Amino acid sequence: MKTTDKPLLDSNILIYSINGDSPFHGKALDLLVQYTQSGFYVADINLVEFFQVVTDGRKTLHPFSTEQASEYIRKLVRIPQVNVLKTGSFHEILQDEDAHAEIRRLQIKRFAIYDYLIADCMRRHAVKLIITGNARDFRKFSFLDVIDPFTNSLTSDLGTRTSNLNYIPYARQSISEQDVASVCSVLRSDFLTQGPKVPEFEKAIAEYCNAGHAVAVNSGTSALHLACLALGLGPGDTLWTSPITFVASANCALYCGAYVDFVDIDPRTYNLCPLTLEKKLQAAKKNGKLPKVVVPVHFSGQPCDMEAIHNLSREFGFKILEDASHALGARYKNEPVGNCKYSDITVFSFHPVKNITTGEGGMAVTNDQGLAEKMALLRSHGITRDPKLFENERWQMSSVRCQTSDLDPPSFYYEQVYLGFNYRMTDIQAALGLSQLQRLDAFGARRRELAKRHDELLAGLPVITPWQHPDGVSAWHLYVVRLRAAVGKTTHRRIFDAMREQGIGVNLHYIPVHTQPWFRQLGFMPGMFPESEKYYEESITMPLFPAMPEEEQDRVVEALKAALVTEYAE
Ligand SMILES: *Cc1c(COP(=O)(O)O)cnc(C)c1O
Repeated sequence: MKTTDKPLLDSNILIYSINGDSPFHGKALDLLVQYTQSGFYVADINLVEFFQVVTDGRKTLHPFSTEQASEYIRKLVRIPQVNVLKTGSFHEILQDEDAHAEIRRLQIKRFAIYDYLIADCMRRHAVKLIITGNARDFRKFSFLDVIDPFTNSLTSDLGTRTSNLNYIPYARQSISEQDVASVCSVLRSDFLTQGPKVPEFEKAIAEYCNAGHAVAVNSGTSALHLACLALGLGPGDTLWTSPITFVASANCALYCGAYVDFVDIDPRTYNLCPLTLEKKLQAAKKNGKLPKVVVPVHFSGQPCDMEAIHNLSREFGFKILEDASHALGARYKNEPVGNCKYSDITVFSFHPVKNITTGEGGMAVTNDQGLAEKMALLRSHGITRDPKLFENERWQMSSVRCQTSDLDPPSFYYEQVYLGFNYRMTDIQAALGLSQLQRLDAFGARRRELAKRHDELLAGLPVITPWQHPDGVSAWHLYVVRLRAAVGKTTHRRIFDAMREQGIGVNLHYIPVHTQPWFRQLGFMPGMFPESEKYYEESITMPLFPAMPEEEQDRVVEALKAALVTEYAE
Protein backbone atom coordinates (compact mmCIF):
# COMPACT_ATOMS: atom_id res chain seq x y z
CA MET A 1 0.00 0.00 0.00
CA LYS A 2 1.29 3.44 -0.84
CA THR A 3 1.94 5.45 2.28
CA THR A 4 -0.29 8.24 1.06
CA ASP A 5 -3.27 5.84 1.00
CA LYS A 6 -2.69 4.89 4.58
CA PRO A 7 -5.33 6.01 6.99
CA LEU A 8 -4.15 8.19 9.78
CA LEU A 9 -4.14 6.04 12.80
CA ASP A 10 -3.73 6.77 16.42
CA SER A 11 -4.15 3.59 18.29
CA ASN A 12 -3.26 4.99 21.66
CA ILE A 13 -6.67 4.56 23.17
CA LEU A 14 -9.14 1.77 22.90
CA ILE A 15 -12.64 2.55 23.97
CA TYR A 16 -14.25 -0.75 24.38
CA SER A 17 -17.75 -1.79 25.22
CA ILE A 18 -19.24 -5.18 24.53
CA ASN A 19 -22.72 -4.96 25.87
CA GLY A 20 -25.20 -2.63 24.26
CA ASP A 21 -27.19 -2.52 27.49
CA SER A 22 -24.16 -1.73 29.61
CA PRO A 23 -24.33 1.66 31.31
CA PHE A 24 -20.88 2.31 29.83
CA HIS A 25 -22.25 2.23 26.33
CA GLY A 26 -23.47 5.82 26.34
CA LYS A 27 -20.22 7.02 27.81
CA ALA A 28 -18.23 5.14 25.20
CA LEU A 29 -20.09 7.00 22.48
CA ASP A 30 -19.49 10.32 24.22
CA LEU A 31 -15.82 9.59 24.51
CA LEU A 32 -15.52 8.63 20.88
CA VAL A 33 -17.06 11.91 19.84
CA GLN A 34 -15.14 13.94 22.40
CA TYR A 35 -11.72 12.51 21.57
CA THR A 36 -12.27 12.49 17.89
CA GLN A 37 -13.18 16.15 17.98
CA SER A 38 -10.19 16.99 20.07
CA GLY A 39 -7.94 15.44 17.51
CA PHE A 40 -7.72 11.84 18.56
CA TYR A 41 -8.35 9.06 16.16
CA VAL A 42 -9.97 6.18 17.86
CA ALA A 43 -8.99 2.71 17.02
CA ASP A 44 -11.59 0.11 17.65
CA ILE A 45 -11.48 -3.56 17.27
CA ASN A 46 -13.36 -6.21 15.48
CA LEU A 47 -13.46 -9.81 16.53
CA VAL A 48 -14.45 -10.86 13.11
CA GLU A 49 -15.24 -14.41 13.77
CA PHE A 50 -17.39 -14.37 16.83
CA PHE A 51 -18.94 -11.15 17.88
CA GLN A 52 -18.54 -7.51 17.28
CA VAL A 53 -16.78 -5.12 19.50
CA VAL A 54 -18.24 -1.95 18.22
CA THR A 55 -19.47 0.76 20.40
CA ASP A 56 -22.96 -0.58 20.69
CA GLY A 57 -21.56 -4.05 21.06
CA ARG A 58 -24.47 -5.88 19.51
CA LYS A 59 -23.64 -9.47 18.96
CA THR A 60 -24.74 -10.13 15.44
CA LEU A 61 -25.46 -13.46 13.92
CA HIS A 62 -23.61 -12.48 10.80
CA PRO A 63 -20.37 -10.89 11.89
CA PHE A 64 -19.17 -7.79 10.12
CA SER A 65 -16.06 -7.80 8.10
CA THR A 66 -13.35 -5.50 9.35
CA GLU A 67 -14.32 -2.86 6.81
CA GLN A 68 -18.00 -3.10 7.65
CA ALA A 69 -17.28 -2.67 11.32
CA SER A 70 -15.22 0.42 10.58
CA GLU A 71 -17.99 1.84 8.42
CA TYR A 72 -20.54 1.09 11.10
CA ILE A 73 -18.66 2.92 13.84
CA ARG A 74 -17.88 5.77 11.49
CA LYS A 75 -21.56 6.36 10.82
CA LEU A 76 -22.48 5.89 14.42
CA VAL A 77 -20.25 8.66 15.65
CA ARG A 78 -20.06 10.69 12.43
CA ILE A 79 -16.31 10.91 12.22
CA PRO A 80 -14.32 10.75 9.02
CA GLN A 81 -11.95 7.98 9.89
CA VAL A 82 -12.16 4.97 12.11
CA ASN A 83 -9.53 2.33 11.96
CA VAL A 84 -10.22 -1.17 13.05
CA LEU A 85 -7.40 -3.18 14.48
CA LYS A 86 -7.73 -6.80 13.56
CA THR A 87 -7.14 -9.30 16.32
CA GLY A 88 -5.62 -12.71 15.92
CA SER A 89 -8.09 -15.56 15.58
CA PHE A 90 -8.94 -18.33 17.95
CA HIS A 91 -7.35 -20.80 15.53
CA GLU A 92 -4.10 -18.89 15.36
CA ILE A 93 -3.94 -18.81 19.14
CA LEU A 94 -4.38 -22.55 19.34
CA GLN A 95 -1.39 -22.98 17.07
CA ASP A 96 0.84 -20.42 18.76
CA GLU A 97 2.93 -22.07 21.47
CA ASP A 98 4.09 -18.84 23.07
CA ALA A 99 0.56 -17.53 23.29
CA HIS A 100 -0.54 -20.82 24.78
CA ALA A 101 2.13 -20.65 27.43
CA GLU A 102 1.19 -17.09 28.27
CA ILE A 103 -2.51 -17.94 28.52
CA ARG A 104 -1.69 -20.76 30.90
CA ARG A 105 0.59 -18.59 32.95
CA LEU A 106 -1.96 -15.81 33.28
CA GLN A 107 -4.55 -18.49 34.12
CA ILE A 108 -6.92 -17.23 31.48
CA LYS A 109 -10.07 -19.29 31.24
CA ARG A 110 -11.22 -20.57 27.89
CA PHE A 111 -14.16 -18.18 27.71
CA ALA A 112 -11.83 -15.27 28.35
CA ILE A 113 -9.53 -16.00 25.44
CA TYR A 114 -11.21 -13.20 23.53
CA ASP A 115 -9.98 -10.79 26.17
CA TYR A 116 -6.52 -12.18 25.53
CA LEU A 117 -6.95 -11.68 21.78
CA ILE A 118 -7.94 -8.07 22.31
CA ALA A 119 -5.14 -7.41 24.77
CA ASP A 120 -2.59 -9.06 22.49
CA CYS A 121 -3.79 -6.98 19.57
CA MET A 122 -3.50 -3.83 21.68
CA ARG A 123 0.04 -4.78 22.59
CA ARG A 124 1.03 -5.40 18.98
CA HIS A 125 -0.29 -1.98 18.01
CA ALA A 126 1.31 -0.23 20.96
CA VAL A 127 -2.03 0.83 22.40
CA LYS A 128 -1.29 2.38 25.73
CA LEU A 129 -4.65 2.92 27.34
CA ILE A 130 -7.88 1.03 27.36
CA ILE A 131 -11.11 2.44 28.75
CA THR A 132 -13.68 -0.21 29.30
CA GLY A 133 -16.73 -1.07 31.31
CA ASN A 134 -15.17 -4.53 31.65
CA ALA A 135 -11.98 -3.28 33.28
CA ARG A 136 -11.62 -6.27 35.54
CA ASP A 137 -11.22 -8.59 32.58
CA PHE A 138 -8.23 -6.61 31.37
CA ARG A 139 -6.39 -5.89 34.60
CA LYS A 140 -4.50 -9.18 34.34
CA PHE A 141 -2.68 -7.84 31.29
CA SER A 142 -0.01 -5.78 32.94
CA PHE A 143 1.09 -4.19 29.66
CA LEU A 144 -2.25 -2.37 29.33
CA ASP A 145 -3.19 0.69 31.27
CA VAL A 146 -6.84 0.19 32.09
CA ILE A 147 -9.36 2.82 33.15
CA ASP A 148 -12.64 1.67 34.64
CA PRO A 149 -15.10 4.50 34.01
CA PHE A 150 -17.22 3.40 36.96
CA THR A 151 -14.58 3.54 39.65
CA ASN A 152 -12.41 6.35 38.31
CA SER A 153 -13.34 9.90 37.77
CA LEU A 154 -13.01 9.54 34.06
CA THR A 155 -12.31 13.05 32.89
CA SER A 156 -9.60 13.95 35.37
CA ASP A 157 -7.98 10.56 34.96
CA LEU A 158 -8.03 10.80 31.21
CA GLY A 159 -6.59 14.28 31.29
CA THR A 160 -3.44 13.22 33.10
CA ARG A 161 -3.11 9.82 31.47
CA THR A 162 -3.61 10.91 27.89
CA SER A 163 -1.56 14.09 27.93
CA ASN A 164 1.51 12.10 26.88
CA LEU A 165 -0.12 9.41 24.78
CA ASN A 166 0.62 11.03 21.49
CA TYR A 167 4.27 11.56 22.31
CA ILE A 168 6.73 9.38 20.41
CA PRO A 169 9.98 9.06 22.40
CA TYR A 170 13.34 8.64 20.67
CA ALA A 171 13.79 5.30 22.41
CA ARG A 172 11.73 3.01 24.55
CA GLN A 173 12.30 -0.36 26.19
CA SER A 174 10.23 -3.42 25.24
CA ILE A 175 9.21 -5.40 28.29
CA SER A 176 7.42 -8.70 27.72
CA GLU A 177 5.37 -10.76 30.14
CA GLN A 178 8.25 -13.22 30.06
CA ASP A 179 10.55 -10.46 31.33
CA VAL A 180 8.10 -9.66 34.13
CA ALA A 181 7.85 -13.34 35.05
CA SER A 182 11.65 -13.71 35.13
CA VAL A 183 12.03 -10.78 37.51
CA CYS A 184 9.18 -12.04 39.70
CA SER A 185 10.75 -15.46 40.00
CA VAL A 186 13.94 -13.88 41.37
CA LEU A 187 11.86 -11.88 43.86
CA ARG A 188 10.38 -15.14 45.10
CA SER A 189 13.78 -16.86 45.32
CA ASP A 190 16.48 -16.86 48.03
CA PHE A 191 18.83 -14.39 46.33
CA LEU A 192 18.10 -10.87 45.23
CA THR A 193 21.79 -10.22 44.70
CA GLN A 194 24.95 -12.36 44.56
CA GLY A 195 22.88 -15.37 43.54
CA PRO A 196 22.99 -17.51 40.40
CA LYS A 197 21.49 -15.08 37.88
CA VAL A 198 24.45 -12.71 37.54
CA PRO A 199 26.96 -15.44 36.56
CA GLU A 200 24.33 -16.90 34.24
CA PHE A 201 23.87 -13.52 32.54
CA GLU A 202 27.64 -13.03 32.30
CA LYS A 203 28.04 -16.42 30.66
CA ALA A 204 25.21 -15.69 28.21
CA ILE A 205 26.69 -12.31 27.17
CA ALA A 206 30.19 -13.78 26.84
CA GLU A 207 28.81 -16.54 24.63
CA TYR A 208 26.75 -14.11 22.57
CA CYS A 209 29.80 -11.93 21.94
CA ASN A 210 32.20 -14.81 21.62
CA ALA A 211 34.38 -13.35 24.39
CA GLY A 212 36.30 -15.25 27.04
CA HIS A 213 35.04 -13.45 30.16
CA ALA A 214 32.26 -11.10 31.19
CA VAL A 215 31.88 -9.00 34.34
CA ALA A 216 28.41 -7.61 35.10
CA VAL A 217 28.10 -4.28 36.92
CA ASN A 218 25.44 -1.78 37.87
CA SER A 219 25.88 0.56 34.88
CA GLY A 220 27.81 1.10 31.67
CA THR A 221 29.59 3.97 33.42
CA SER A 222 30.79 1.63 36.19
CA ALA A 223 32.01 -0.81 33.53
CA LEU A 224 34.05 1.98 31.90
CA HIS A 225 35.51 3.01 35.26
CA LEU A 226 36.53 -0.53 36.24
CA ALA A 227 37.92 -1.20 32.76
CA CYS A 228 40.16 1.88 33.01
CA LEU A 229 41.38 0.85 36.45
CA ALA A 230 42.05 -2.71 35.29
CA LEU A 231 44.05 -1.33 32.35
CA GLY A 232 46.17 0.56 34.85
CA LEU A 233 45.00 4.06 33.97
CA GLY A 234 46.01 6.46 36.72
CA PRO A 235 47.31 9.94 37.55
CA GLY A 236 49.62 11.26 34.85
CA ASP A 237 48.17 8.95 32.18
CA THR A 238 45.93 10.08 29.32
CA LEU A 239 42.81 8.60 27.73
CA TRP A 240 41.53 9.61 24.28
CA THR A 241 37.99 9.27 23.04
CA SER A 242 35.51 10.81 20.61
CA PRO A 243 33.82 14.17 21.35
CA ILE A 244 30.57 12.74 19.93
CA THR A 245 29.69 10.42 22.78
CA PHE A 246 27.98 10.40 26.14
CA VAL A 247 30.05 12.17 28.81
CA ALA A 248 30.70 8.85 30.59
CA SER A 249 33.19 7.74 27.88
CA ALA A 250 35.45 10.64 28.96
CA ASN A 251 34.58 10.82 32.66
CA CYS A 252 36.02 7.35 33.26
CA ALA A 253 39.48 8.86 32.74
CA LEU A 254 38.82 11.66 35.23
CA TYR A 255 37.60 9.15 37.85
CA CYS A 256 41.06 7.58 37.67
CA GLY A 257 42.84 10.91 38.03
CA ALA A 258 44.01 10.68 34.40
CA TYR A 259 43.90 13.32 31.67
CA VAL A 260 41.42 13.15 28.85
CA ASP A 261 41.73 14.29 25.23
CA PHE A 262 39.62 13.84 22.11
CA VAL A 263 40.01 12.67 18.53
CA ASP A 264 37.71 14.31 15.98
CA ILE A 265 35.12 12.24 14.11
CA ASP A 266 34.93 10.90 10.58
CA PRO A 267 32.16 12.99 8.99
CA ARG A 268 30.68 9.93 7.30
CA THR A 269 30.36 7.51 10.22
CA TYR A 270 30.48 10.02 13.12
CA ASN A 271 32.92 7.61 14.77
CA LEU A 272 36.41 8.56 15.90
CA CYS A 273 38.41 8.95 12.69
CA PRO A 274 41.42 6.59 12.41
CA LEU A 275 43.32 8.99 10.13
CA THR A 276 42.94 11.86 12.58
CA LEU A 277 43.94 9.45 15.33
CA GLU A 278 47.11 8.51 13.48
CA LYS A 279 48.13 12.15 12.99
CA LYS A 280 47.43 12.98 16.59
CA LEU A 281 49.46 9.96 17.74
CA GLN A 282 52.44 10.99 15.64
CA ALA A 283 52.34 14.47 17.15
CA ALA A 284 51.90 13.05 20.67
CA LYS A 285 54.83 10.74 20.20
CA LYS A 286 57.08 13.72 19.51
CA ASN A 287 55.86 15.44 22.69
CA GLY A 288 56.09 12.27 24.71
CA LYS A 289 52.36 12.49 25.47
CA LEU A 290 51.01 9.28 24.02
CA PRO A 291 47.71 8.06 25.47
CA LYS A 292 47.62 4.97 27.65
CA VAL A 293 44.06 4.08 26.64
CA VAL A 294 41.97 4.91 23.56
CA VAL A 295 38.18 4.53 23.79
CA PRO A 296 36.54 4.07 20.38
CA VAL A 297 32.77 4.53 20.73
CA HIS A 298 30.60 2.57 18.30
CA PHE A 299 28.32 5.53 17.80
CA SER A 300 24.67 4.75 17.05
CA GLY A 301 25.59 1.05 16.94
CA GLN A 302 27.89 1.27 13.92
CA PRO A 303 31.27 -0.36 14.65
CA CYS A 304 34.40 1.78 14.46
CA ASP A 305 37.22 0.90 12.09
CA MET A 306 38.72 -1.41 14.70
CA GLU A 307 41.37 -3.02 12.54
CA ALA A 308 42.95 0.36 11.79
CA ILE A 309 42.79 1.41 15.45
CA HIS A 310 44.25 -1.93 16.51
CA ASN A 311 47.16 -1.56 14.09
CA LEU A 312 47.87 1.89 15.52
CA SER A 313 47.79 0.47 19.05
CA ARG A 314 50.64 -1.87 18.12
CA GLU A 315 52.66 0.92 16.63
CA PHE A 316 52.08 3.41 19.45
CA GLY A 317 51.54 1.06 22.38
CA PHE A 318 48.17 2.05 23.81
CA LYS A 319 45.34 -0.11 25.20
CA ILE A 320 41.93 -0.22 23.52
CA LEU A 321 38.67 -0.01 25.47
CA GLU A 322 35.62 -0.24 23.18
CA ASP A 323 32.59 1.70 24.38
CA ALA A 324 29.92 -0.51 22.81
CA SER A 325 27.06 0.94 24.86
CA HIS A 326 25.17 1.36 21.56
CA ALA A 327 26.41 -1.76 19.87
CA LEU A 328 25.27 -4.98 21.55
CA GLY A 329 24.22 -7.11 18.58
CA ALA A 330 26.36 -5.21 16.04
CA ARG A 331 28.87 -7.06 13.87
CA TYR A 332 32.30 -6.09 12.56
CA LYS A 333 33.91 -8.03 9.72
CA ASN A 334 31.29 -10.72 10.21
CA GLU A 335 31.96 -11.24 13.89
CA PRO A 336 30.11 -9.94 16.95
CA VAL A 337 31.17 -6.66 18.53
CA GLY A 338 32.42 -7.65 21.98
CA ASN A 339 34.66 -10.50 20.85
CA CYS A 340 37.58 -8.19 21.74
CA LYS A 341 39.58 -9.37 18.76
CA TYR A 342 40.85 -5.81 18.30
CA SER A 343 40.67 -4.54 21.87
CA ASP A 344 41.51 -5.29 25.49
CA ILE A 345 38.03 -4.73 26.94
CA THR A 346 34.58 -3.93 25.52
CA VAL A 347 31.79 -2.44 27.62
CA PHE A 348 28.02 -2.47 27.16
CA SER A 349 25.21 -0.51 28.84
CA PHE A 350 21.77 -1.86 29.69
CA HIS A 351 20.06 1.46 30.36
CA PRO A 352 16.42 1.31 29.17
CA VAL A 353 17.12 3.26 25.97
CA LYS A 354 19.85 0.79 24.92
CA ASN A 355 19.46 -2.36 22.84
CA ILE A 356 18.49 -4.55 25.80
CA THR A 357 17.86 -3.38 29.34
CA THR A 358 18.30 -4.41 32.96
CA GLY A 359 16.85 -1.13 34.28
CA GLU A 360 20.34 0.12 35.02
CA GLY A 361 23.29 -2.12 34.28
CA GLY A 362 26.46 -2.70 32.35
CA MET A 363 28.95 -5.38 31.36
CA ALA A 364 32.63 -5.52 30.57
CA VAL A 365 33.85 -8.35 28.35
CA THR A 366 37.45 -9.36 27.69
CA ASN A 367 39.58 -12.30 26.61
CA ASP A 368 42.16 -11.55 29.30
CA GLN A 369 41.51 -13.53 32.47
CA GLY A 370 43.66 -11.22 34.55
CA LEU A 371 41.66 -8.16 33.51
CA ALA A 372 38.38 -9.98 34.19
CA GLU A 373 39.52 -11.00 37.69
CA LYS A 374 40.68 -7.50 38.49
CA MET A 375 37.37 -5.97 37.39
CA ALA A 376 35.41 -8.59 39.36
CA LEU A 377 37.43 -7.74 42.48
CA LEU A 378 37.03 -4.00 42.04
CA ARG A 379 33.27 -4.20 41.54
CA SER A 380 32.89 -5.65 45.03
CA HIS A 381 34.99 -3.49 47.38
CA GLY A 382 38.29 -5.07 46.30
CA ILE A 383 37.44 -7.91 48.65
CA THR A 384 38.40 -11.51 47.98
CA ARG A 385 37.79 -14.88 49.62
CA ASP A 386 40.30 -16.61 47.36
CA PRO A 387 43.25 -17.83 49.52
CA LYS A 388 45.55 -17.53 46.51
CA LEU A 389 45.09 -13.74 46.64
CA PHE A 390 45.53 -13.32 50.39
CA GLU A 391 48.44 -11.14 51.41
CA ASN A 392 48.35 -11.28 55.20
CA GLU A 393 50.86 -13.61 56.82
CA ARG A 394 49.23 -16.12 59.11
CA TRP A 395 50.89 -14.52 62.16
CA GLN A 396 48.96 -11.34 61.35
CA MET A 397 45.72 -13.21 61.75
CA SER A 398 46.74 -14.85 65.00
CA SER A 399 43.32 -14.31 66.51
CA VAL A 400 41.80 -16.47 63.81
CA ARG A 401 44.58 -19.01 63.56
CA CYS A 402 43.31 -22.45 62.86
CA GLN A 403 44.79 -25.44 64.66
CA THR A 404 43.67 -28.15 62.29
CA SER A 405 45.16 -26.82 59.09
CA ASP A 406 47.82 -24.24 58.55
CA LEU A 407 46.83 -23.79 54.92
CA ASP A 408 43.10 -23.24 55.11
CA PRO A 409 41.90 -19.94 56.49
CA PRO A 410 38.67 -20.00 58.48
CA SER A 411 35.47 -19.94 56.46
CA PHE A 412 34.55 -16.38 57.45
CA TYR A 413 37.87 -14.95 56.36
CA TYR A 414 38.26 -12.42 53.56
CA GLU A 415 40.75 -9.75 52.63
CA GLN A 416 40.47 -6.38 51.00
CA VAL A 417 43.38 -6.22 48.59
CA TYR A 418 42.37 -3.19 46.46
CA LEU A 419 40.31 -0.06 47.00
CA GLY A 420 37.17 -1.27 45.22
CA PHE A 421 33.57 -0.16 44.93
CA ASN A 422 30.08 -1.53 45.23
CA TYR A 423 29.30 -1.69 41.52
CA ARG A 424 27.52 -5.05 41.65
CA MET A 425 24.56 -5.94 39.45
CA THR A 426 21.60 -7.51 41.28
CA ASP A 427 20.07 -10.87 40.38
CA ILE A 428 16.83 -9.02 39.69
CA GLN A 429 18.59 -7.04 36.97
CA ALA A 430 20.45 -10.07 35.62
CA ALA A 431 17.19 -12.04 35.31
CA LEU A 432 15.71 -9.21 33.29
CA GLY A 433 18.85 -9.08 31.15
CA LEU A 434 18.78 -12.83 30.49
CA SER A 435 15.17 -12.67 29.45
CA GLN A 436 15.77 -9.62 27.25
CA LEU A 437 18.79 -11.24 25.64
CA GLN A 438 16.52 -13.91 24.18
CA ARG A 439 14.90 -11.18 22.09
CA LEU A 440 18.03 -9.22 21.21
CA ASP A 441 18.22 -10.63 17.69
CA ALA A 442 14.53 -9.97 17.09
CA PHE A 443 14.98 -6.41 18.41
CA GLY A 444 17.97 -5.99 16.08
CA ALA A 445 16.05 -7.27 13.07
CA ARG A 446 13.21 -4.86 13.80
CA ARG A 447 15.63 -1.95 14.26
CA ARG A 448 17.24 -2.77 10.91
CA GLU A 449 13.83 -2.97 9.27
CA LEU A 450 12.81 0.42 10.67
CA ALA A 451 16.16 1.95 9.72
CA LYS A 452 15.77 0.70 6.16
CA ARG A 453 12.26 2.11 6.08
CA HIS A 454 13.57 5.44 7.37
CA ASP A 455 16.17 5.41 4.56
CA GLU A 456 13.41 4.89 2.00
CA LEU A 457 10.97 7.39 3.44
CA LEU A 458 13.61 10.09 3.75
CA ALA A 459 15.11 9.62 0.28
CA GLY A 460 14.84 12.82 -1.72
CA LEU A 461 14.62 15.07 1.32
CA PRO A 462 17.38 17.58 2.04
CA VAL A 463 18.85 15.39 4.77
CA ILE A 464 21.79 12.99 4.92
CA THR A 465 20.77 9.53 6.12
CA PRO A 466 23.27 7.39 8.05
CA TRP A 467 26.12 6.15 5.87
CA GLN A 468 27.10 2.57 6.61
CA HIS A 469 30.67 1.29 6.40
CA PRO A 470 30.78 -2.01 4.48
CA ASP A 471 32.84 -3.70 7.25
CA GLY A 472 30.11 -3.34 9.85
CA VAL A 473 26.50 -4.22 10.57
CA SER A 474 25.02 -1.60 12.87
CA ALA A 475 22.95 -2.46 15.93
CA TRP A 476 20.93 0.67 15.06
CA HIS A 477 20.71 2.04 18.58
CA LEU A 478 20.17 5.48 17.00
CA TYR A 479 19.06 6.76 13.63
CA VAL A 480 20.63 10.18 13.06
CA VAL A 481 19.90 12.46 10.11
CA ARG A 482 21.98 15.49 9.16
CA LEU A 483 20.49 18.53 7.55
CA ARG A 484 21.89 19.03 4.08
CA ALA A 485 23.32 22.37 3.05
CA ALA A 486 24.65 24.76 5.62
CA VAL A 487 21.33 25.61 7.16
CA GLY A 488 22.55 27.40 10.22
CA LYS A 489 21.84 27.00 13.88
CA THR A 490 18.46 28.70 13.94
CA THR A 491 17.00 26.45 11.25
CA HIS A 492 18.29 23.39 13.06
CA ARG A 493 16.69 24.59 16.22
CA ARG A 494 13.39 25.52 14.58
CA ILE A 495 13.12 22.06 13.01
CA PHE A 496 13.68 20.54 16.43
CA ASP A 497 11.06 22.73 18.02
CA ALA A 498 8.55 22.08 15.24
CA MET A 499 8.93 18.32 15.65
CA ARG A 500 8.76 18.43 19.43
CA GLU A 501 5.55 20.45 19.13
CA GLN A 502 4.12 17.61 17.05
CA GLY A 503 4.88 15.23 19.90
CA ILE A 504 7.94 13.73 18.17
CA GLY A 505 10.70 13.06 20.67
CA VAL A 506 13.60 13.98 18.42
CA ASN A 507 16.88 14.27 20.27
CA LEU A 508 20.50 15.20 19.77
CA HIS A 509 23.33 12.73 20.31
CA TYR A 510 25.57 14.34 21.38
CA ILE A 511 26.59 17.79 22.48
CA PRO A 512 30.37 17.55 21.86
CA VAL A 513 31.81 16.54 25.23
CA HIS A 514 34.71 19.01 25.07
CA THR A 515 32.26 21.95 25.02
CA GLN A 516 30.69 20.97 28.36
CA PRO A 517 31.54 23.38 31.20
CA TRP A 518 33.36 20.67 33.14
CA PHE A 519 35.66 20.03 30.21
CA ARG A 520 36.10 23.71 29.33
CA GLN A 521 37.29 24.19 32.86
CA LEU A 522 39.98 21.60 31.99
CA GLY A 523 41.11 23.78 29.08
CA PHE A 524 39.02 22.57 26.13
CA MET A 525 37.37 25.14 23.88
CA PRO A 526 34.87 25.29 21.04
CA GLY A 527 36.69 25.14 17.71
CA MET A 528 39.05 22.37 18.78
CA PHE A 529 37.20 19.55 17.03
CA PRO A 530 35.52 21.13 13.99
CA GLU A 531 33.96 17.99 12.44
CA SER A 532 32.26 17.16 15.72
CA GLU A 533 31.02 20.72 16.16
CA LYS A 534 29.68 20.86 12.59
CA TYR A 535 27.95 17.54 13.13
CA TYR A 536 26.36 18.92 16.29
CA GLU A 537 24.87 21.89 14.43
CA GLU A 538 23.22 19.73 11.76
CA SER A 539 22.09 16.51 13.39
CA ILE A 540 18.79 15.17 14.60
CA THR A 541 18.19 11.77 16.23
CA MET A 542 14.94 10.35 14.91
CA PRO A 543 12.83 8.10 17.16
CA LEU A 544 13.66 4.41 16.69
CA PHE A 545 12.83 1.45 18.93
CA PRO A 546 11.69 -2.11 18.23
CA ALA A 547 8.09 -1.63 19.38
CA MET A 548 7.63 1.43 17.18
CA PRO A 549 4.68 0.83 14.87
CA GLU A 550 5.10 1.88 11.26
CA GLU A 551 2.24 4.33 11.69
CA GLU A 552 4.32 6.16 14.29
CA GLN A 553 7.34 6.11 12.02
CA ASP A 554 5.20 7.64 9.28
CA ARG A 555 4.13 10.37 11.68
CA VAL A 556 7.78 11.12 12.49
CA VAL A 557 8.70 11.37 8.82
CA GLU A 558 5.67 13.52 8.00
CA ALA A 559 6.57 15.90 10.82
CA LEU A 560 10.15 16.19 9.53
CA LYS A 561 8.95 16.77 5.98
CA ALA A 562 6.56 19.50 7.13
CA ALA A 563 9.29 21.19 9.17
CA LEU A 564 11.75 21.04 6.25
CA VAL A 565 9.22 22.43 3.80
CA THR A 566 8.54 25.37 6.10
CA GLU A 567 12.25 26.08 6.61
CA TYR A 568 13.43 25.66 3.04
CA ALA A 569 10.53 27.64 1.60
CA GLU A 570 11.64 30.69 3.52
C1 LIG B 1 24.65 4.99 27.79
C2 LIG B 1 26.06 5.24 27.51
C3 LIG B 1 27.03 5.13 28.50
C4 LIG B 1 26.72 4.97 29.96
O1 LIG B 1 25.96 3.87 30.25
P1 LIG B 1 25.10 3.86 31.61
O2 LIG B 1 24.64 2.44 31.68
O3 LIG B 1 23.97 4.83 31.41
O4 LIG B 1 25.99 4.24 32.73
C5 LIG B 1 28.36 5.28 28.13
N1 LIG B 1 28.70 5.53 26.87
C6 LIG B 1 27.79 5.67 25.89
C7 LIG B 1 28.25 5.92 24.49
C8 LIG B 1 26.44 5.53 26.18
O5 LIG B 1 25.54 5.69 25.22
